[in-house]
Amino acid sequence: MIVVLRPGSSISEIDHVVEEIRRHGLSPNTIVGTDRTVIAAVGKEKEGLQFSLETLPGVEKVIAILAPYKMASIEGHPEPTVIRVKNFVSGGGHIGMVAGPCSVEGQQEIMDVAHIIKEAGATGLRGGAFKPRTSPYSFQGLKEKGLEYLAAASKVTGLAVFTEVMAPEHVPMVSFHADVLQIGARNMQNYPLLEAAGAQPKPVLLKRGASATMEEFLLAAEYIMKAGNPNVLLCERGIRTFEEHTRFTLPLASVPYLQEKTHLPIVVDPSHGTGKASLVKSMTLASIAAGTDALILEVHPNPEKALSDGSQTISTLAFGQLMKDAKVLANGLGKSLG
Ligand code: PEP
Ligand code: MN
Repeated sequence: MIVVLRPGSSISEIDHVVEEIRRHGLSPNTIVGTDRTVIAAVGKEKEGLQFSLETLPGVEKVIAILAPYKMASIEGHPEPTVIRVKNFVSGGGHIGMVAGPCSVEGQQEIMDVAHIIKEAGATGLRGGAFKPRTSPYSFQGLKEKGLEYLAAASKVTGLAVFTEVMAPEHVPMVSFHADVLQIGARNMQNYPLLEAAGAQPKPVLLKRGASATMEEFLLAAEYIMKAGNPNVLLCERGIRTFEEHTRFTLPLASVPYLQEKTHLPIVVDPSHGTGKASLVKSMTLASIAAGTDALILEVHPNPEKALSDGSQTISTLAFGQLMKDAKVLANGLGKSLG
């Protein structure tokens, strides 16, 4: 880390900072400029050192050089992590495609959707059995029955099941039925949930909190990895801004930005990211152009009748058409999609 001293800091203040850096086992390299002094502290940094150096007299700021998310960081892990579950592959030139209704609504319904999206080329099936709804009066999901329906649809089609887990005590149940555990935007900083998902073996799709910074997002992934699970997919699903023309604002610069910072695969959710079915196809193609490693889309045979998020859900028919263009674009970029 780099310690920047205030202009006019005294020799004794500088000496004290140097002593403190040594006391923490790092070697100080002092650069004396015309106006101010800068000290580079080289060596293995201990947690909290940055903040303790910042409190010393004469110090203006301390700049960390290494990312605080050690396991998620691309530093020391330059090759991309590829996540494979059943036929779903994300990363390393493969764009995984996950589709399905916002909520699991019934056994036949999820089985039918699974067949149609598989036919169109998807490899992942989404559907919420535990639903985080803004209103307690809205449909809350079919819970364990919904998980059983998803598992049955996966058994027949071979699609990998992506479904949300909302509470640490549900992790064993969801992990038993699902192939990938989704942690929703509202729970991105639910640390006991992140740790519980990190302590089970299935990959985790972590959604960005609607007001989370990139660093908070990556540190949330770090919780899962630190608990023992290296297979985390990071999902950009839009953030809350002043803008009202879409439900959320979908910042696609997150995709290449995150790829500069982490080896984990990046997923985009254009359904929640826009809240509008008419915008989903364009933003899917834009996500592919931005370099996404996977997509997760809300798809329903009859979006008007969907029990949740119908206005951002595309029809199974529209999904088939979207897949054709998405494949052409991905293949043109030298990637496979499905
Ligand atoms: C969902 O995928 O249906 C969902 C609730 O997503 P998010 O957590 O991104 O709002
Ligand atoms: Mn939804």
